[in-house]
Amino acid sequence: MITANPCPTQAAESVADWRRLWREAVTDPRELLALLDLPHLAAVLPDDGDAGFPLRVPRGFVARMRRGDPHDPLLRQVLPLAEEAHPQPGFALDAVGDLASREGPGLLHKYRGRALLIATGSCAVNCRYCFRRHFPYGENTAAANAWAGALEQLRADASISELILSGGDPLSLADAKLEALSARLRDIPHLRRLRLHTRLPVVLPERVDAGLLRWIGSLHLPLVCVVHANHANELDRDVADALARLAAAGVTLLNQAVLLRGVNDSVAALEDLSERLFACGVLPYYLHQLDRVRGAAHFEVDDTRARTLHSALRDRVPGYLLPRLVREVAGAPAKLPL
Ligand SMILES: *Cc1c(COP(=O)(O)O)cnc(C)c1O
Ligand code: SF4
Repeated sequence: MITANPCPTQAAESVADWRRLWREAVTDPRELLALLDLPHLAAVLPDDGDAGFPLRVPRGFVARMRRGDPHDPLLRQVLPLAEEAHPQPGFALDAVGDLASREGPGLLHKYRGRALLIATGSCAVNCRYCFRRHFPYGENTAAANAWAGALEQLRADASISELILSGGDPLSLADAKLEALSARLRDIPHLRRLRLHTRLPVVLPERVDAGLLRWIGSLHLPLVCVVHANHANELDRDVADALARLAAAGVTLLNQAVLLRGVNDSVAALEDLSERLFACGVLPYYLHQLDRVRGAAHFEVDDTRARTLHSALRDRVPGYLLPRLVREVAGAPAKLPL
């Protein structure tokens, strides 16, 4: 069991509506820099736009950035840079080698017992290091009828015991769509768990509202939620409260982070992240090496340094706060330990 925050607060119906906060996200890089007292940083922005992957960041996430700090670890994750356009050998459009299968509304079944459904292509935040940056999916993948084939596949394969909802961000789906999906899982007897991979509780904690908690309460399967936080500063009081609400609803909470140069590539930053996650009732699960996607080369930490950082972290934290250092390799039977 994962320890819940000692004083979970209930989601009040009066919390700001997450859809409105979603719509009000900052999308203009110059506005972001003005909010942070960094107007001179405009010189690092791409002058030819953003290569089809625009800035998008909810205002609550911006509020956790330090004003006047061009190296802020949260800012670095979202700010488009002119240097993203510089050619980088080895950094491809389809970094993980399964663009075709990720694009469809279907089921990805790469690992034994687990199948992954791309439930939607939408995200509340655009992370510059994301493998998804070169193929933004349309919202239409979320249409209930687009799941029909995937659900048939799931029903027909009794070896699958865990369904993973991914994307995009599955919690960008409206509660009614989540409900429509989970209702169709009820008569698939071989399913034992449902897992969500989502960054929403971190970037838009208001998403964890009464409606979402009602949906979670209605599930017949245990729910595992893998949140994506890369730095301790992402986990402020509002996020801690949202995670406490999930824990109080019986959700098992895990975190996956990406090792990112200039964001969390120090032992201190990784230790702080593990400690802060634990304080929020979340256990570290994976620390991923970057997918080598075009435009993200400036985030790369080489494998030697990654191993050094990871073994230094091992010397500092209890084993249960040490994430597994892994890389996704096309065709491998699991995420590969480094
Ligand atoms: C990462 C991933 C999973 C889950 O892997 P775990 O090691 O169980 O976290 C499952 N399916 C696909 C296609 C994945 O990419
Ligand atoms: S899929 Fe995850 S990493 Fe990629 S943009 Fe969305 S939230 Fe960020």
